[in-house]
Amino acid sequence: MQVLKFGGSSVADATRISAVLDIVGSAAQNDRTLVVFSAISGCTDTLLKIASAQTIQEKTDLIAPLKIRHHDIIKRLFTGQERIEATQEIDQLFDELAACRSEDCVCYGELLSTKIIARKMMCEGIKTSWLDSRKLIRTREGRVNQAISYLHIADAVKEDDTARVFIAPGFIASDESGQMTTLGRGGSDYSAALYAAALKASALQIWTDVPGIMTANPKDIPAAQTIPSISYEAALTLAENGAKVLYAPTVGPAMESGIAINIRNSYDPEHPGTVISEQSLERAQHFLGVTCLEDKQAGTARICLVGEGVNSRRSAIGRILSALSEAGISPLGEVSGSAGTFFLDVRAIVVKQALAAVHREFFEERSISKINVFLAGFGAVGQSFAELIGKNKEKIASRTGKSIRIVGVSNSSKYYINLRGIDPAEISSRLEEGESAADGAYIDAVCAAAPRRSVFVDCTNSPSLHEKYESLFKAGLNIVTSNRRSLSLPYVQYAAIKAAARENGAFFRYDTTVANALPILESIAGEANCSDGISSIEAVVSCTLNYIITGYDGNRGESFASLLKRAHEEGLSEKDPRIDLGGSDVLRKLLILAREAGIPLEAEDVEIKPMLSEEFFSCSIEEFYRMLAEYEPKFIAREDELDELGLRQRFIASIKKDSTASLGYKAEIKMQTVGIDSPFYWISGTENVIAVAGKYSAPLVIKGAGEGRRLAAAGIIKDILS
Ligand code: ASP
Ligand code: MG
Repeated sequence: MQVLKFGGSSVADATRISAVLDIVGSAAQNDRTLVVFSAISGCTDTLLKIASAQTIQEKTDLIAPLKIRHHDIIKRLFTGQERIEATQEIDQLFDELAACRSEDCVCYGELLSTKIIARKMMCEGIKTSWLDSRKLIRTREGRVNQAISYLHIADAVKEDDTARVFIAPGFIASDESGQMTTLGRGGSDYSAALYAAALKASALQIWTDVPGIMTANPKDIPAAQTIPSISYEAALTLAENGAKVLYAPTVGPAMESGIAINIRNSYDPEHPGTVISEQSLERAQHFLGVTCLEDKQAGTARICLVGEGVNSRRSAIGRILSALSEAGISPLGEVSGSAGTFFLDVRAIVVKQALAAVHREFFEERSISKINVFLAGFGAVGQSFAELIGKNKEKIASRTGKSIRIVGVSNSSKYYINLRGIDPAEISSRLEEGESAADGAYIDAVCAAAPRRSVFVDCTNSPSLHEKYESLFKAGLNIVTSNRRSLSLPYVQYAAIKAAARENGAFFRYDTTVANALPILESIAGEANCSDGISSIEAVVSCTLNYIITGYDGNRGESFASLLKRAHEEGLSEKDPRIDLGGSDVLRKLLILAREAGIPLEAEDVEIKPMLSEEFFSCSIEEFYRMLAEYEPKFIAREDELDELGLRQRFIASIKKDSTASLGYKAEIKMQTVGIDSPFYWISGTENVIAVAGKYSAPLVIKGAGEGRRLAAAGIIKDILS
């Protein structure tokens, strides 16, 4: 069973009622549904005037227009015999109203609206049962007797097991002596919560005329925004302090029985509105909304700011006071309140300005657009990325006007998604409890969940994740990757990924796949330094080889073999260092560089001459190290010889214009000797150097750290933000 409630403005006229019936009709397809309605808008106010009318004439004059409004609705909703019967039923209620005790008048509004709606539902062929809330909801000493009411409600629903839809008037009840009574102004929300709790409903939806609980009353503050989720306690505080969207007593029954309340907008049924539930927001400090309560007699108003997890009251109070002083408003007394709630009194005539000032201060710095990140891979780079985001949130926001939050993360076995954001510090533990990522489950979940402005970040080393890129683009995600295997594919596949991004209006960035965070690819793509196209790119981009070779330069203290072992210990090389020595990683980088320059280079087009001869590659690893040791004197002799000549060896990947080559470019990866004038001569450690030359210019040389998990993470952040 689910319980829905519609307020007076949702049933104000026949058009609105028809829209509501659509919502109820489609809800009822999923589950049995109990619907609580208010009186049509303005009706209760008029009934209260009728109750206090001094003369019969006055009463009749007030009843007449109300009767016309109900007749108009009936005329629009029904024809023929149905119209006659509906009119008779309503007229009878109006006769009762004209004759009833003044204290009973106010109860007729909900009887009128629900009788019309229940009849309309039946006419549409839906099995509908009208429940008399006066018999079911009972009060005692002015308060709802929940135990008795729940029993009555459960029995009434049990009795009618054929009905698909139950319609019940909100607001009304009866007291211990059987007299009609009400649950207070706005009480239909409360009726709905009582029905939901009594029936242990799976859902409670309160449909109103605004998109959920908002950061302020949108009638006062046009910039108000929906609060997507809020705890019962905070919702209660807002409701008690002037948020008109929800009648405060409603929260109790729902909270006691753990039923989430979803506040929805009947003018915009697709909008998810606000969910009120146990869960509080995970963000450390979070302000939810601002309300006000006027004290007409005293001529003052109390502003109330509600937050959750507010750890610095001092700074919040400072912000409130300075926002007001900027608006030229002086508060009456001090800021009070406890936990995340703040109260401040102002003179009633300035309450709108005060609300606007506080709202601006706490809720309108939102020009900062949120970027949601789904992270794949939680190894060295993924972890550094999360750490960096955690640390630099504020800095990024103030510098770029954008804020990045991680909403999904996976490693090779598990994943965890939370669209409200995941605290970077908690990722490891979240992953441990996460869902199985087997069979692409993470990607499926990301595609299903991704909100607007989401970026998928591939920090894996997976050889096959690129196969999922197209589905991610289709689902509206952008992609940033540091995984070079996703780009060094055969050219057709590479081009297909790029085309998929373009077709789906997504961005696809991978600047960290070559030379880490150095601005290489963007310079090539932008043809920086080249007025007439790029004529050559030369790159020393293997961190492992640079480390070994530059370690060897002019320093014979350590043998080649032992440098290689150390490179592996420092996490720079693969376990079998020959994978690096063979140049396959450099090949991937060269493919990416060339393609960025518009050259459709394939692996087969590249001539690779590894720095060691064939026999080093075809033996076992032990044999390999033994042979290296044997070779050491030859290495030394070669180095000495080069030293004499003032030369050094570098492992250079290059692509150069060459009209005899099939692509018009010749691509090579090989050891070359360079002189002191070469940009590759002075390199230390894992530095990378890339030289991009045009026909008419000296080369653009970019040199810097080519390695480092934190730099890779910074490069990824740059890709996300650019
Ligand atoms: N009709 C009642 C009122 O106006 C109850 C409600 O709308 O919730 O207060
Ligand atoms: Mg209402």
